[in-house]
This record gives sequence, C-alpha cells and structure tokens, in this order.
Amino acid sequence: MINVAIDGPAGAGKSTVAKAAAKQLGYIYVDTGALYRAVGVYALRNNISTTDAEKIGAALDSIRVELKFIGGVQHVFLNDDDVSEEIRLPEASMAASNVSAIPAVRSFLFDLQRSIAAQNNCIMDGRDIGTVVLPDAQVKIFLTADDEERAMRRYKELKEKGSEVTFKEVLDDLRERDYNDSHREIAPLKPAEDSVLVNTTGMTLEESTQKIIEVIKEKI
Ligand code: C5P
Repeated sequence: MINVAIDGPAGAGKSTVAKAAAKQLGYIYVDTGALYRAVGVYALRNNISTTDAEKIGAALDSIRVELKFIGGVQHVFLNDDDVSEEIRLPEASMAASNVSAIPAVRSFLFDLQRSIAAQNNCIMDGRDIGTVVLPDAQVKIFLTADDEERAMRRYKELKEKGSEVTFKEVLDDLRERDYNDSHREIAPLKPAEDSVLVNTTGMTLEESTQKIIEVIKEKI
C-alpha cells in the first residue's frame, strides 16, 4: 500500500490539500484529527474534564470511535453516532488538543490508524503520522504556514459557517493549540527527519495542492 503522511500545525491547509490530492491520485484521505476530536466530544458531552488524564483514561472503555468512508468522504462515529459535524465546533478543537496529550488516548487510537493505512492507499494527515504512526510511509510532508495566515484561513471558514468569533480569538486559540501540540511529552508535533517541508504562506489552496501532488509523484 502507498502511504503518504502529512503533518503540520492547525490551519496549515492539511485537510483541504490532502483531500484534493487524494482525490486526484485515487487514494483515500484520512483525517486523524477527527479521531482526537471525537474523544474530545465524548468528554464534553459527559462533563469530563479534558485535562483529567485519569478520568479520560477510565472513560476510554466506554468509547468506540470508527471511521467510515461514505462516497469517499470520511465520517466519524462515536458510539454509533455520526459526530462529523459536532467535532468541528471550536470547543471540540481545544478538547481534542487537551485529550491528545494523554498517552492512553494516543495508544487507544493508534491501531485504528495503522490498520486503515495497512489496508488502503491513503493520504493521512495529523501531527505525528510521519514520526510515530507511519514511520515507514513512502512520502512524508510537513505542511506549514505563518500563524497569522493560518488563523485568517480558519477565521474565514468559521465566519462562513455563521460563527461570531473574532480574528483575535481564532489567532489566540490557534497559538495555544500550536504550543500544546509542539510541547507535549508524547508524540509532539515536529517534522520527521525524512519529511519534505512545504510552507504555503502566500500560496492559494490550488497552488498548495499542486505542490503536494508534485512532491508525492516525485517520491513514488
Ligand atoms: O487536525 P485537527 O486540528 O483536527 O486536530 C485536532 C487536535 O488533535 C490537534 O490540535 C492535536 O492536538 C490533535 N491531533 C494529534 N495527533 C494527530 C492529529 C490530531 O495530536 N495525529
């Protein structure tokens, strides 16, 4: 199977670019952030503090997270409930970032990610795909962009959905998540040594996608 790992900070355009590249190449696109978000949503729904490692660890026995590909589009199920929309709420982002620092959560989601990659040609995006989940991926890309530009992209997306957030809230939130994700002890966000660094500051999504496809085609 061909596995492409795309890692990078929040709002770098990973999901849009990976989705478009996967479509062109005929691979499936796997968004691993959705898995952490589903665990975060479980905690929010059940009033469990997302930083309480002990309580979250104990709750994992009651959580079943599944990915289903319906018409090529990834849907996330939390205990048989399709939470694909709910996981995109801003509070789910921070909840995901918090629970993702808990080692038990990472190992809980590890096998699922590995087995999807073993069975499918895929582009998988996340924070630790090239470093931890798929260290043998044929292609590894670290996708990034300046934080203000990443925040502006996210802000526009949220505004389009009718959200009332301010740009500053989005920027602060993104910086806090970047900090959490890069400084946690387990699987911190960092480029794999053998990854290709792509900085999309000033590039359109179309240009970023073409660049990613170029990198993938060069490697395989
Ligand atoms: O990619 P997305 O923004 O949806 O991810 C939500 C959160 O899940 C991230 O901020 C990060 O903390 C966590 N995550 C992770 N490892 C991954 C994917 C996401 O820790 N492979």
